[in-house]
Amino acid sequence: MGMKCPHCHKSIENESQSTKDWNSFGYQSPLITCPKCSKDFLCKAFHEPAAEGIDKKWLNVGIPLKRALIYTAIWAVCWSAIYFIPSLTIPLKIRVLLLGLSGLFMLYGLLDWWTVIRIKSGKEAKLLLKLVQESEKRLQDENYVRRLYNLGYKVPKKYLPKDLQ
Ligand SMILES: [Zn+2]
Repeated sequence: MGMKCPHCHKSIENESQSTKDWNSFGYQSPLITCPKCSKDFLCKAFHEPAAEGIDKKWLNVGIPLKRALIYTAIWAVCWSAIYFIPSLTIPLKIRVLLLGLSGLFMLYGLLDWWTVIRIKSGKEAKLLLKLVQESEKRLQDENYVRRLYNLGYKVPKKYLPKDLQ
C-alpha cells in the first residue's frame, strides 16, 4: 500500500506499520511515522475501532449474500450456454469469452460465499473483537494517545490523560 508523507512529500511504502497488522477492515493504527523524515501523520484509511466504533456492515450478511447469489446465477448461465448449446453454433471467440466470464463469476461468487460463511459462523465477529482489543491496548499507551491528539485525532475522553481532558 503506497502513501505520501504530507511533510516531505515522499512516497512511502507502509512498512513501518508492518504487514501483520494489515486487515481488510482498515482497523489498525492510523498513526504513521514517515521513515524518511520521521514525522508523524494520520492515514485516513485506517481507524482505531476502540475510538471510532465498528461499522455494522461488516457483520451484515445481506449484501454479500445477495452478491453471491447474483454471481452464482451469472456463472450458471455462462456455464449452461457452454455446456448445452452445440459447440459448432457458437464461434470460438464467444466460447472463450463465456469460459472466461464463467470462471470470473465463479471466483467472485466463491469469495462472497466465503464471506457469508465467515459472518454466519461468527468468525468475522471474533476477528473484529480481537481488533477492538488490540486497539484498546494501543490506546492505553499515554505516549501513543498524545501523539494522536497532537495530530488532531478525536480521542475519546476515557483514553485521554488528565491534562488533556
Ligand atoms: Zn516524510
